[in-house]
Amino acid sequence: MTTTVAFIGLGHMGGPMAANLVRAGHRVLGHDLVEASLAAAVESGVERAESAADAAAVADVVITMLPAGRHVLSLYGPEGLLAAARPGTLFVDCSTIDVADSRAAHAAAAAAGHRSLDAPVSGGVVGAEAGTLTFMAGGEEAAFAEAEPLLAVMGKKAVHCGGAGAGQAAKICNNMILGVSMIAVSEAFVLAESLGLSDQALYDVASAASGQCWALTVNCPVPGPVPTSPANRDYRPGFAAPLMAKDLGLAANALRAGGIDAELGLRAAELYARFAEGSGADQDFSGIVRAIRAASSNTTDAQKGTTT
Ligand code: NAD
Repeated sequence: MTTTVAFIGLGHMGGPMAANLVRAGHRVLGHDLVEASLAAAVESGVERAESAADAAAVADVVITMLPAGRHVLSLYGPEGLLAAARPGTLFVDCSTIDVADSRAAHAAAAAAGHRSLDAPVSGGVVGAEAGTLTFMAGGEEAAFAEAEPLLAVMGKKAVHCGGAGAGQAAKICNNMILGVSMIAVSEAFVLAESLGLSDQALYDVASAASGQCWALTVNCPVPGPVPTSPANRDYRPGFAAPLMAKDLGLAANALRAGGIDAELGLRAAELYARFAEGSGADQDFSGIVRAIRAASSNTTDAQKGTTT
C-alpha cells in the first residue's frame, strides 16, 4: 500500500531514509532548511515541499529526522506541523533527542489529536543508505503497528520498547554502555602497552575471555586485531565522536534528572565532550584511545606522535 509521507530533515540520515521510502513505492514530500539537502533528496525522487507544514498537511505519516529536541519541539509547536496535519496523522520522530523533550512532543501530538511514536535509530549513515537501521520505538502499540511497514523499508529491525520516550531511553542506555565500554577497552590497551603487552596479545585473550564486548571485537580502538575497525583507517568514522558526545550528554541529563548514581556514565559524558571538542571532532569515537595515550605520563614519544 502506498503511504504519503512528509519527511522533515533530509540530512546525512534523513536523505537516504527518505530515498529508501521512495524506492519502496511510497509518495514522499520532503523539506529541509538547507537547499542542497533538499535538492539531493529531490534527485532521489522526493517531492519538494516549500515548507514542513505544506508537507504535513497532505501526509498520512510525518517523519522527522532532526538534530535535537528543540528542533522537533519548535516544528511541532504553535502554527507548526501538528496544526497543519489532518486529524489522526501519525507522527514518527526518528531524531535522537532528550527523553523529556520526546515525552513533551508525544504530549503535544496527543493534545492536537494525533498519534505519535519516538523511533530513534542505530546503524549510522551506512545503515540509513542500505536500509539496515535498527529502530527503537516508544509509543502506543497501535502507532507502532501502523509505522512498522515504513520502518521495515528503512531498517532491518524495529523494537517496540514501551510507551512515550521508551525508544529514546533505550538508545541512550545502549550508547552509555558503548561509551563507557569503549573508554574501558581503550584504557586497557594503553595500560597493556605500558606493561609491554602487545595489542594483539591483549586482544587474543580479552576477546575470548570476560573482557569481550563490541567495543573490543568489532570497533577495536587499536589498529591490527580487527582489520575492519576505524582504527585501521586513521579513525575515520564509523560512529563520529561528536555523536557519541551528544548521546552521552542526553544520558547525563537523564541521569541527573533521575538522581542516578552513575559515576562512569557521567564521567564518560565529560571525557567524550572534551574529546569531541578537541582532536576527536572528525574522528571515530574509538579515537579516544589516542587522547588517553597522549594524557598518560609513561607513553613513548613515538606513541604520542600518533595523537593530534
Ligand atoms: P544532519 O545535521 O545531517 O541532518 C539534520 C537535518 O535537519 C539538516 O539537514 C538540517 O538542515 C535539518 N533541519 C534542522 N532544522 C530543520 C527545520 N526546522 N526544518 C527542516 N529541516 C531542518 O544530522 P544527521 O546526521 O542526519 O542526524 C539526524 C538525527 O539522527 C540526529 O538526531 C542524530 O543524533 C541522529 N543519528 C545520527 C546518526 C549518524 O550517524 N549521523 C546515527 C544515529 C542517529
